[in-house]
Amino acid sequence: MSITSCRRVGLLMICAIAVAAVSGERLVTAQLSVDPTAALLVDLIRVNTSNPPGNEGSIAELLGPRFKALGFEIDVVPTPEPGKSHFIARLRGDGSKRPVLLAAHADVVGVEREKWTLDPFGGVLKDGYVFGRGAIDFKGGMAVFARAALMLADQKIPLARDVIFLAEADEEGGLYNTSWLAQDHWPKIECEFSLNEGGWIIKRANGRVQYVSISTADKISIGIVLTARGTSTHSSMPRPDNAIVTLARALAKLADHETAVTLTPSTRQFFLTLAKTSASPMSEHFRNLTSGDRELVRRADQEISKDPLLHAIMRNTIAPVLMDAGFRTNVIPGSAEATVNVRIIPGTNPADIVREFESVIGDSRVEVRVAASPPPSVPASPETTELYRALEKQARVQFPGVAVTSYLFQAGTDARAWRSRGVPTYGIYPYAIDAEDLSRMHGNDERVSIESLRQGTEMIFRTLVDVAAQR
Ligand SMILES: [Zn+2]
Repeated sequence: MSITSCRRVGLLMICAIAVAAVSGERLVTAQLSVDPTAALLVDLIRVNTSNPPGNEGSIAELLGPRFKALGFEIDVVPTPEPGKSHFIARLRGDGSKRPVLLAAHADVVGVEREKWTLDPFGGVLKDGYVFGRGAIDFKGGMAVFARAALMLADQKIPLARDVIFLAEADEEGGLYNTSWLAQDHWPKIECEFSLNEGGWIIKRANGRVQYVSISTADKISIGIVLTARGTSTHSSMPRPDNAIVTLARALAKLADHETAVTLTPSTRQFFLTLAKTSASPMSEHFRNLTSGDRELVRRADQEISKDPLLHAIMRNTIAPVLMDAGFRTNVIPGSAEATVNVRIIPGTNPADIVREFESVIGDSRVEVRVAASPPPSVPASPETTELYRALEKQARVQFPGVAVTSYLFQAGTDARAWRSRGVPTYGIYPYAIDAEDLSRMHGNDERVSIESLRQGTEMIFRTLVDVAAQR
């Protein structure tokens, strides 16, 4: 039995073929012929780029011939570490406008292989999904960005500006990330604006898209070091000033402390969008969070913060991550140290975090300091650029009736390389995902739906046509 349906979307012929009662191999072949973005993603997943070591040079080898065949200029920038490189493909426009850049990291985080039910590097197609490490973060995005750029060339669309596709090294860790690339090779990636990973296209359990968020800024990661001091002495005669105990009390106080709700213009817009697109009582909580009324905000915070992602984007977060104390079983150490990772909202002064910690801990035996001078805050990218407007418009075309909002990304990305140089950068994971998909990111059985990849490719392709095609 087979069911075949085809429909025409613009110039792109999309065929969805569901074949039952065929061999696994024939089914895979049928599915791969369906959607070129899914097929590309399968190829990308099959190149294991777990970082460390990353091995991103293999992605350059995979992509090079495909871009070259369609007239892109290829530039592979090797890093000082063998096997690692950045891959840059440029499709020339007439130069009347400055380039637009699509950036996607080629490395992925490692896997706990025994916890996966399928091969994380097999590129398995099952139940309408592509499974594998990086399916969401961010080989799926790389496949979408690459396909959208390749379609511009394939359809010979005359361009007013260069379109640059970049597959980056070392986003998940390591020294030779886009900040390194920007420092030494800026002219190769200089652009008017760029797209990167970041915001979300969130699907409800019923499959309908709830909202699209486009990130315009990232939170910043800083380390705060607590050093507790006490008497160093023989453990047979303990005193009340044991440094380990003092440090433990300080950490317990921080654990009970909650930082204030701090809304940026983006997060305010984001929560108002959630208010419009959620059912009661959450819709009221989201609206109350933006009310400015202290008691309403407090109650709304309590409910909304049950979701760790929402809890994180409305405040500076506190997470103890490292401890260092003691060296022998018969010695009470004179000091004990803990490092606390704090993700701050852009614009927050780290010195204010130190003062807040000192006041919460309230113990002069505990010294609080910033671990290393954090990178300076970079301003949020404006929502007024041609690229933001085009993406916002095409998200609405792709998902009619869906709210689109700007967003403060809860973690850090490689967007800093551009934003710190004044280049507006917008983040999107360009496929609709639900809570179940999201929980698998950096986890087990990571997956993205083939239909979401298809929709995302259409959306990004039309966004590129809007900003880059000659008029
Ligand atoms: Zn990522």
